[in-house]
Amino acid sequence: MTIMSGYGGRFVTERADVVIVGGAAVGSATAVFLRREGFTGRIVVVEKDPSYQWCATGRSVASVRRQFSTRENIELSTFGWQYFSRIKQEYGHEADIGLVERGYAIMASAEGAGVLRANVALQRSLGADVELLAPDALKARFPWLAVDDLSGAGWGHSGEGWVDPHAHLALMRKRAISEGVSYLADEVVGIDVTGSAVAGVRLASGGAIATRTIVCAAGWHSRKVAGLVGIDLPVRPRKRYVFVIDCPTPVPGAGLMIDPSGVYFRPEGRYHITGVAPPEDEDPDAEDFDIEDGYFERLIWPTLAHRVPTFETLKVVNAWCCHYDLSTLDHNAILGGHPDVAGFLLACGFSGHGLQHSPGIGRAMAELIVHGGYRSIDLTRFGWARIAANAPLAEANVF
Ligand SMILES: Cc1cc2nc3c(=O)[nH]c(=O)nc-3n(C[C@H](O)[C@H](O)[C@H](O)COP(=O)(O)OP(=O)(O)OC[C@H]3O[C@@H](n4cnc5c(N)ncnc54)[C@H](O)[C@@H]3O)c2cc1C
Repeated sequence: MTIMSGYGGRFVTERADVVIVGGAAVGSATAVFLRREGFTGRIVVVEKDPSYQWCATGRSVASVRRQFSTRENIELSTFGWQYFSRIKQEYGHEADIGLVERGYAIMASAEGAGVLRANVALQRSLGADVELLAPDALKARFPWLAVDDLSGAGWGHSGEGWVDPHAHLALMRKRAISEGVSYLADEVVGIDVTGSAVAGVRLASGGAIATRTIVCAAGWHSRKVAGLVGIDLPVRPRKRYVFVIDCPTPVPGAGLMIDPSGVYFRPEGRYHITGVAPPEDEDPDAEDFDIEDGYFERLIWPTLAHRVPTFETLKVVNAWCCHYDLSTLDHNAILGGHPDVAGFLLACGFSGHGLQHSPGIGRAMAELIVHGGYRSIDLTRFGWARIAANAPLAEANVF
């Protein structure tokens, strides 16, 4: 047992070299990659909901695309895809994360044609197997799609698709535990700071862990966790619904299809899943899981029926809700240290694309902790400096 001075006179029953707050996709990936980077110290992951039923990871659409407008996001997805594709080599023949390789089709109206062209050029320059399809090529590939009001679409020929997020998380967690990482079912409710450096976390159970390094991987709760050290994080919990639809007429070859309005759908087994972000003035901070009556009929169904006329006969058979950890400045992640609190590292603000980026983010956090800087993907632009300067690095492809 250790007693630390300046620790509120409490008995500290544990000490760790790194405490990770949140043990879902990003927290668990951070633990796994810390070991890969050779970190031998004690790692404790504190997770308040070990069932993972309320986190974004478990409720994610879990799709992977190279089609972003920001270099870092494309590179993170490239690494994510490589990681997902090598699961059997990495975790053994039995390992299965339900990887489906199927492209995204990100459609543009005439108004969006220039942005689409520029984005596809950037993606291709970074090695993404993405092609700009004109409306006739789009129609030839997807005969069931209405293309008259489209200028074209970006289409990912390879290296895009989706995974089973539960299976991905379970593998990461199991690997971390097998490498000596401790998972603690508890909630971080306080963080002690000595001088201007973190000294430890306090737990809802009454316990405490002394540490000099804390990773905030708390997803849509990250604002609260950062608030414990006085950081005003521009990350907000924003509700997103996913509807499961059944349509008797098949739409063969569909990938993850995104209408210019942002309405998306993709196959999921014998069904399809669909959703759309609400207009900004209908998107308040929220922590509940209720599904708004009439949302599908009002904001999704008319677009689906227009874009895919055979969807007129669809039925909604199920729905779920969870929250994006929305980075309100620019829809990009907020990563790394904060100038006022040494040892407090942020890994949040993923704004709806954190599942595919979780392997890359885990690796990046491990590099920061072990080497003091990024070694593989330079994610400096995702740091706090842009928040402090109020200088957004806007990601255009957010859905
Ligand atoms: C509907 C929906 C669809 C999505 N679709 C995609 C997609 O297609 N592709 C994609 O890449 N991403 C997608 N995302 C985003 C992606 O799921 C998230 O970015 C990613 O899962 C975030 O992982 P995380 O580990 O950071 O956070 P979470 O999965 O939210 O996990 C955070 C964890 O921290 C724990 N925690 C919080 N506070 C505390 C505390 N104080 N003490 C202890 N534990 C705490 C929580 O219990 C939780 O388990 C989607 C998200 C939603 C909601």
